[in-house]
Amino acid sequence: MKAFEDSTDVGHFIQGERVRGSASRTQPVFNPATGTKARTLLLGESADVEAAVASAKAAFPNWSNTPPIRRARVLLRFLELMNRHLDDLAAIITAEHGKVFSDAQGEVARGIDVIEFACGIPQLLKGNYTEQVSTGMDNWTVRQPLGVVAGITPFNFPCMVPCWMFPIAIAAGNCFILKPSERDPSASLFMAGLLKEAGLPDGVFNVVQGDKTVVDALLAHPAVKAVSFVGSTPIANYIYETGAKRGKRVQALGGAKNHMVVMPDADLDKAVDALIGAAYGSAGERCMAVSVAVLVGDVADRIIARVVQRARSLIVKNGMEHDAQMGPVVTRQALERIEGYIELGVKEGAQLVVDGRGLKVPGHENGFFTGGTLFDHVTPEMRIYKEEIFGPVLSCVRVKDFAEAVDLINAHELGNGVSCFTRDGHIAREFGRRIEIGMVGINVPIPVPMAWHGFGGWKRSLFGDAHAYGEEGVRFYTKQKSIMQRWPESIEKGAEFAMPTAK
Ligand code: NAD
Repeated sequence: MKAFEDSTDVGHFIQGERVRGSASRTQPVFNPATGTKARTLLLGESADVEAAVASAKAAFPNWSNTPPIRRARVLLRFLELMNRHLDDLAAIITAEHGKVFSDAQGEVARGIDVIEFACGIPQLLKGNYTEQVSTGMDNWTVRQPLGVVAGITPFNFPCMVPCWMFPIAIAAGNCFILKPSERDPSASLFMAGLLKEAGLPDGVFNVVQGDKTVVDALLAHPAVKAVSFVGSTPIANYIYETGAKRGKRVQALGGAKNHMVVMPDADLDKAVDALIGAAYGSAGERCMAVSVAVLVGDVADRIIARVVQRARSLIVKNGMEHDAQMGPVVTRQALERIEGYIELGVKEGAQLVVDGRGLKVPGHENGFFTGGTLFDHVTPEMRIYKEEIFGPVLSCVRVKDFAEAVDLINAHELGNGVSCFTRDGHIAREFGRRIEIGMVGINVPIPVPMAWHGFGGWKRSLFGDAHAYGEEGVRFYTKQKSIMQRWPESIEKGAEFAMPTAK
């Protein structure tokens, strides 16, 4: 694997070119494994948003008039380039996010899934047609693009989450402005370059780097018709309310506290593997990470020693090293927040059975590393149970039976993903039916739906009506138009004053 070494300033991508824009404020981008500044991010201002919107607006008439199959052909070339450069993109992600290289490869592959789905846009845009709704009259519906749309994305999937949005948006004929996370902005520019190489006309895809200033400028801009957001719950809530107030379509995916229920009849070896991978993979910085193990009946006594042993023996090191199981967390602030939660858990009376705090990786002493942490006897009133920690911290809650497990999960304000490990078909079925969570896994710890099924949580994990990608994504990025048509031969003479009905 070749590490990503590009040490230039990171700017925007507007009208098919990398540009510096206003460049009045900057922010460092770190390599989390070394803890050193790797690049300088040029933070956008409202003038940069204005330039990107103007570029996207100008590109829209031609792009939206391009036949869907020709738009799909551009995406097919982009798909080919993404596959060819999968490892380059994965190295960029590891260098700025910290996740291990194989995990970054997986992230890119799951983004590519959505591009493949978007290549089927001619089929996905097909409308409905009814002949003879009245004598001599037909009625059909078509779906047309919205215009300029924007995506605001989190640090934890700098390739996959943007790919939930822009391939479908542009395939449907929209022009897109991406505002990536400030923490790992380089993947967005790399993909912008590949889109250009694939033949995407200038202005159809733009990137404006930045912080709240850029987000607020996008939300305020009347030409931005829809906003897709993925990030933490408080910001998702803000984006949804602000965007909706301004008449925009908004889908805003928020945070998570994902539970994994282990029933006494589960295959416990596989359940332990699943818990370890889902809790500590990507250092717990996944919106589908399992952060709560719900251990039913006597399961806790039967598995806790094994989970402890596995959590203690995690291989934590620079994600570019091939045997790394867990890399650093994204920033020093994230490290401090996570370790602060561990201190809080101890104060709240949870039993700290594995303490990952203060981990030092030889040769990477300044990296943002923390080890895997495990709490037992966590209870629902504790803040470490209620709040999203977003780090490698697994909380075990002991419950007496299945009903208590379901009630516990349904009472949580977040509802992104959930999983149940069992061999009992009736329990599996009841779990799927009764659980108030958007994405459910039965013996699947991280049930991230495939590209054609759509991704989204319930409760305060999603604000808005549409899930990301899949057919819901196509609907989100298009508006329906209904056309009724007849020809003069079918029109009766004379003005009609009654409500028209089928004749
Ligand atoms: P974040 O909410 O801090 O940032 C997300 C985006 O919002 C970034 O682009 C950021 O620049 C912008 N932003 C931050 N503060 C803002 C503000 N005050 N006003 C306007 N914009 C602002 O999230 P993060 O730390 O980058 O990502 C981690 C979070 O994302 C976790 O909560 C995780 O669960 C969530 N997430 C959810 C999903 C999902 O599908 N539900 C997927 C991935 C991540």
